[in-house]
Amino acid sequence: MRDAGFVVLVALVSGCLLFARLPADAHAPASSYDLLITNARVVDGSGNPWFRADVAIKDGRIARIGRLSQEPATRTIDAHGQILAPGFIDVHTHVESIYSLPAAENFVRMGVTTLVTGNCGTSATDVGEFLGRIKEKPLAVNLATLIAHGSVRRKVMGLGDRAPTPEEQKQMEAVVEQGMKDGAVGLSTGLIYVPGTYAKTDEIVGLARVAARYGGLYATHMRNEGDKVADAIRESIQIGEQAGLPVEISHFKISNKKLWGQSPMTLGLVRDARARGLSVTVDQYAYTASSTSLDSRLPSWLRAGGLEEAKKRLADKATRERAIDETRESLKNSGFKDYSFAVVASYDPDKSFNGKSIAEITKQVKGKSDVTSQIEQILAMYEAGGAGMIYHGMDEGDVKRIMQEPFTMIASDSGVRQIDESVPHPRGYGNNARVLGHYVRELKLIALEDAIRKMTSLPAQTFGFRDRGLIREGFAADLVIFDENTIADQATFDKPHQFPVGISFVIVNGAPVFENNQMTAARSGVALRGSGYLASNPQITQIH
Ligand SMILES: [Zn+2]
Repeated sequence: MRDAGFVVLVALVSGCLLFARLPADAHAPASSYDLLITNARVVDGSGNPWFRADVAIKDGRIARIGRLSQEPATRTIDAHGQILAPGFIDVHTHVESIYSLPAAENFVRMGVTTLVTGNCGTSATDVGEFLGRIKEKPLAVNLATLIAHGSVRRKVMGLGDRAPTPEEQKQMEAVVEQGMKDGAVGLSTGLIYVPGTYAKTDEIVGLARVAARYGGLYATHMRNEGDKVADAIRESIQIGEQAGLPVEISHFKISNKKLWGQSPMTLGLVRDARARGLSVTVDQYAYTASSTSLDSRLPSWLRAGGLEEAKKRLADKATRERAIDETRESLKNSGFKDYSFAVVASYDPDKSFNGKSIAEITKQVKGKSDVTSQIEQILAMYEAGGAGMIYHGMDEGDVKRIMQEPFTMIASDSGVRQIDESVPHPRGYGNNARVLGHYVRELKLIALEDAIRKMTSLPAQTFGFRDRGLIREGFAADLVIFDENTIADQATFDKPHQFPVGISFVIVNGAPVFENNQMTAARSGVALRGSGYLASNPQITQIH
């Protein structure tokens, strides 16, 4: 990233000069620009108030910012006073399948130009191959990835509930090391999932140390987001402190009804860590419902070894009873009286279940809906292959408090969506637009400029994208133009497959990928590789 560092320096210097040399028509351009955006109100990603300017783009980068409307350009876009912001950087996604949907339309149409995948403990284990595929299969967005603990553990140790041997620990560290050298931006964990859930803290610290050596961060789906959320935050911070790397707590939330309203306490733990000099940040999606697998409701011992092993256990009556008892207990601890808050997003064996709650489905299938019958239904669906779920389990007050925190960034936790496939969480279509329309314009919870900062320069700073996330001369021309008065999400829990409104252009590395309310043919995304890549490949002088 040495070159990128140079660009930052140049950009800062020229940023200062910009004000000294206005009006800009004194400056004769060497050649025509590729793209000129005029009459924009620039929200530059820093959090500063908007300013009026034209922005010129050349060779995929922001060449000049100023009064440029008379400058020659191959194409001019008149923004008509709309907001011009850096393209949004979504640091929490699950897009391992992106090469089958390379337009990534659901992301682009909410203004997203860069995705970070490999979250929650699941990633490609061959990072070089994964990022390298962009050459044969160009994408409409930029792509970065984490190397994920769960996938590495599975590769080395399988799905078992046990600690690694010293030899296995070394093997896992070697896979993480290679991932970092191939350009991963850090290590992720998913400590409620199989097999990540079986890892003790020291195992993760060992792998995080490797990521730290290559300038990576530690992104975690914590061990608990409910009754033990405070312990889980402490563990995350401890891992960062011991391994010596920044911590990103993914989809920060409180999903235990008994703890609703406790976000001042959980945010306080992060603030305290920061006050001690530890780099801890969080991300959040703008909804009171989460989305994950059905089996995350079940005891982790039951899931050890994967589904086939679990089925054998459940065939034993006493073991099945124990699983039901523990699941009932954990429901009770979560503060919910039954599973009416748990709605099926996708269940392949019977698609008519999609969009219905576990309570409704149980009533439909069994003619009764007591909690034990609901848990029996959950087990039956798990044994049939499992389901993707939406859990309406959060408090709006907590969502708002978390959003207002300066170290919170906005991220969707979504995959690439196939239109009209299943009934997924609406965050994959609406997240950024919902923040800008609902929380900024309607509720005035945060300022527009601050919301944009949370979607651009804060994620860029946190994940090491040194020439993105700001509108600065020399930076990559990832841009979005939208109308702050009309931008709004349209996707709902009942009808999630709906694109937002109010966004007129999305530009990736200088090329419009979305305009006139449709995707263009441009696939101008690049792979964004972490600092370990350049350190390990001295012959390479630029990152793409
Ligand atoms: Zn997660």
